[in-house]
Amino acid sequence: MIPLMRIVLLLLFGITAFAQPRPLIGLGGIVHETNTFNPKKTTLADFATGIGGADGILRGKDVIELSTKANNTTAGFIYGAAKYGLDLYPTIIAGPQTMGTVLDSAFETLSAELIDRLRQAPKLDGILLFLHGAMVTESHPHADAEVVRRVRKAFGDTIPIVVVHDFHANISEEIVKLTTVLLTYKECPHLDARDAGVHAARIMADIVSGKVKPVQALVKPPMLLNILYHNTYAPPLLPITSESKRLEKNPNILAASVAGGYQYADVPAMGPSVVVVTDNDPALARREAERLGEMLWGMRSQMLLKAPAPAEAVRLAMTNGEWPVALMDAGDNIGGGSAGDSTFILTELLKQKASGWVVTISDPAAVQAALRAGVGGTFDMPVGGKTDNLHGDSVRIKGRVKGIHDGRFVEPAVRHGGGRYWDMGVSAVIEVEGSTPDMPNLLLLTPKRIIPFSLHQLISVGIYPERMKILVAKGTIAPRAAYEPVAAKIIEVDSGGVTGVNPARFDYKHIRPNLFGIK
Ligand SMILES: [Zn+2]
Repeated sequence: MIPLMRIVLLLLFGITAFAQPRPLIGLGGIVHETNTFNPKKTTLADFATGIGGADGILRGKDVIELSTKANNTTAGFIYGAAKYGLDLYPTIIAGPQTMGTVLDSAFETLSAELIDRLRQAPKLDGILLFLHGAMVTESHPHADAEVVRRVRKAFGDTIPIVVVHDFHANISEEIVKLTTVLLTYKECPHLDARDAGVHAARIMADIVSGKVKPVQALVKPPMLLNILYHNTYAPPLLPITSESKRLEKNPNILAASVAGGYQYADVPAMGPSVVVVTDNDPALARREAERLGEMLWGMRSQMLLKAPAPAEAVRLAMTNGEWPVALMDAGDNIGGGSAGDSTFILTELLKQKASGWVVTISDPAAVQAALRAGVGGTFDMPVGGKTDNLHGDSVRIKGRVKGIHDGRFVEPAVRHGGGRYWDMGVSAVIEVEGSTPDMPNLLLLTPKRIIPFSLHQLISVGIYPERMKILVAKGTIAPRAAYEPVAAKIIEVDSGGVTGVNPARFDYKHIRPNLFGIK
């Protein structure tokens, strides 16, 4: 009897131990980088559409099913949760999107749905949130903090809330107080979006198991860190990024983030930030945050604006001698919230009779005209410059419809932000007058704004980027991850537009006074 009882007891204990529930962690996010200078407000429908084939709004199990294979932050949460023994309760991931100020109605709907869905979970042990960090709504200049405030209010002061922000976050004291841990992408282009998700899941596992007690410190140097200098893979930012990584080798430092900030949001928190999170050592967090902040401040003399205007940039590209040259149309940085139909560089290419170029323009009416003409048909109509009055005039384009494509492509490699499945919408390639078979001038017309984060955008419509002379990408730093492997040279262009690199073009009203780098 006794041995039998022991076996029964062992089995019971064994089963109890085996059945010990894993911590359940709520997962959600509202992801928006808000360009407050863009006159077009962001609606709920804009969130649902997504951008450039990005996911739009994912709900419930779709959050897991559609993100697992990506290289984005949600994929990192999923992988990290499995690796560190957490169960996830997926709710809603809305975005990513970049456009004008978010309508209050859209924000209220999305934040209410996030909280409702979190409430439907059985008891949660923690909450992982993916928030861009630069969301502005009509009522909230730091809407990411407002999301966390609402989640805190609903779930109390003690539940761990770990937030991942994009590198372009504008971080406030408020959100640092509201979160248990805040960490950001380290890299720009953002090749570590997934790593940041894994990192957050690891910290969450250590918090819920009682292994660590995070405290965090924020430092904001009084400066604007111009987007021209956001490349973390090259000086002057590289040594600071490397130092933040080195700090994380210290077991007492749970995370050390240096965020570049987002200069197109006219809000008090605009500018770079350092957040250091330690295991219950506030002095260490403060000291290291201040040291990284001093490093940022110390590089300001290396950040003088130097970028050619479109005319000069096209001339430089034509005479470079090695091709292709990639021109970054910084003023029409779609990922930064612009229209995607700027014509400033296109106008110069035509005026200077450049050859072997490719430009992408978002213009649904022009796509329709190309569809009506059909492959091989004549194309003759004004293109671009139609969304607002900030991105140049429409340009009359004469040519031939070279191809019509369904616009879907896959980016298998890790590129900025980590997106995998893309959908441009049915798109057309126009061979513009003056083309030769060896050196065509190509206009890719898309119905939607497409962030140029993947060369498969061109390859999938039959354009060979390496054979062209001039590639125009509507972005500033982010497209580098896609274009550097083929480009002989990359030139950031000081083009006009709602994402121009020169802050003097913008009328700031709400930022902190006397920031270095504004004028
Ligand atoms: Zn970003």
